[in-house]
Amino acid sequence: MTLNMPSYSVDWVTQITPPMLHRMHVKAILLDVDNTLSPPDSQIPFSGTIQWVQKMQNNGFKLIILSNNFKWRVAPFAAQYGLPYVSFALKPLPVGYLRAMSKLHVRRSETVAIGDQIFTDILGANLVGLQSILVTPRITEGSASFLRRRHWEQSIRQELKNTGRHISPKE
Ligand SMILES: [Mg+2]
Repeated sequence: MTLNMPSYSVDWVTQITPPMLHRMHVKAILLDVDNTLSPPDSQIPFSGTIQWVQKMQNNGFKLIILSNNFKWRVAPFAAQYGLPYVSFALKPLPVGYLRAMSKLHVRRSETVAIGDQIFTDILGANLVGLQSILVTPRITEGSASFLRRRHWEQSIRQELKNTGRHISPKE
C-alpha cells in the first residue's frame, strides 16, 4: 500500500452503500465536509447527503464529521446532520482521526475515512492505518497549487479505475 492510495473511490458520497461498507468490515465513518458534503465553506449540504447519513445510521453505522476547517464553520454544519464533529483536525496528522475514533469508541480496524483530497483525507487515513474512500470533488477551486494537486490526483483516480477499485452505482 502506498500512502497516497485510497482503498476505493466513488464519484459521490451518496453512492456509498451499507453492503459496500460491510464488505470492508467497517462500522464507523469519519466524514470530511468541504467538497465531500457541501461546497467549500458553504452551509448548504449537497443534495441527498442528509438522507444518506440517516440511512447509514439506520443501518447501524456510527458517523462523525472530521474537518480541517474552523469550529465556526463546522459546528453549525454538523448540527444540520445531527452528527458529532472534530474541527481543526489538522489532517493529514493522526491527531484528529484518533480524537474522532475515541469519540465514537471504535477501533482503527472498523473505521473508514471518506473525503475528496488525497493530501489530507487519504494520506491521513493511511498514516493512521484506516481504510479510506476517495470521493470526486464537485466544486473546482481556482488556485494554481490547487489545480496542480488536482491534476496529480487524476493519475490516482485513473489507477483506481484500472484496478477495479472505483465503485460505480451499476456495480
Ligand atoms: Mg474536502
